[in-house]
Amino acid sequence: MIERRDDPEVETLPEHSDLVFGPPERLVTGATWSEGPVWIPALGRLRFSDIPGDRILEWEEGMSEPAVYATGVEFTNGRILDRDGSVIQCSHGRRRVERDRAGVVDVIADRYEGARLNSPNDVIVTRDGDVLFTDPDYGITVSVEGHSGVREYGNGACWVFRVGPGGVLTPIVTDMQQPNGLALSPDESILYIADTSAVARQDGRYQIRAYDWDGVAASNGRLFVAQDGASDGFRVDTAGNVWTSAADAVSVYSPDGALLLTVPVPEVVSNVAFGGADGTTLFLTASTSLYRIPTSARDATSVWR
Ligand code: MG
Repeated sequence: MIERRDDPEVETLPEHSDLVFGPPERLVTGATWSEGPVWIPALGRLRFSDIPGDRILEWEEGMSEPAVYATGVEFTNGRILDRDGSVIQCSHGRRRVERDRAGVVDVIADRYEGARLNSPNDVIVTRDGDVLFTDPDYGITVSVEGHSGVREYGNGACWVFRVGPGGVLTPIVTDMQQPNGLALSPDESILYIADTSAVARQDGRYQIRAYDWDGVAASNGRLFVAQDGASDGFRVDTAGNVWTSAADAVSVYSPDGALLLTVPVPEVVSNVAFGGADGTTLFLTASTSLYRIPTSARDATSVWR
């Protein structure tokens, strides 16, 4: 979660735009705080979380109000589509990563060496089928986003984990304050992770960090970009560009960290996800609403999904 506020209407688009073809379009509203968008091709629907509302919502073309997929879901947050079409999602309330297969929900990971996880926030899958997730503490410290609790592992740490073959859990990044959004470069050699802790700001700006990734371990952590607004969630496209939330905007960075584009959004953006019939629509969960932006890009994972 990042700051919330009411925002003015934004109707203009930056001049530069071979990446996006129009301003954000609000599709539905009425959520309390939205995160965790994922496009589900089999349904032709965009699924997302209303975290404080403790429900999972869906939108499809033609809807002017979101459909309620499930309620009493224990404060789900980030989610991703697995190769088999099931949905992997984070649950603050259950302090776990779980799988929703046609409405049947099973645990993927909830403990590390016997200790409970904090409150898994965002999750991705690798080409090999491993699950990588971030585990900040917002779901046990922000009262409307879960249940109060204490950090149990690593002397009160917030780590990033890999769930490998056999469901074995391994910490892969242990030097962040509040790891949040994450994504891999198209060749999976670089792992990007945002830190949304105010403590981890550099010169007052929020970091997205980059790590070399060999499929098992992360190393050589360094600053990728810093921005004024926290990056709660992001996706990487097939060209390696990073599409990230940036307070009341979406920003796009090249693989070398150059800012290519910033698109203003009428509300504070949490997460983004590519989807739609041809995969080029960027969906934004933004405070109370779901938006879309037509783009020329596709998710990096679209080449192997
Ligand atoms: Mg997040």
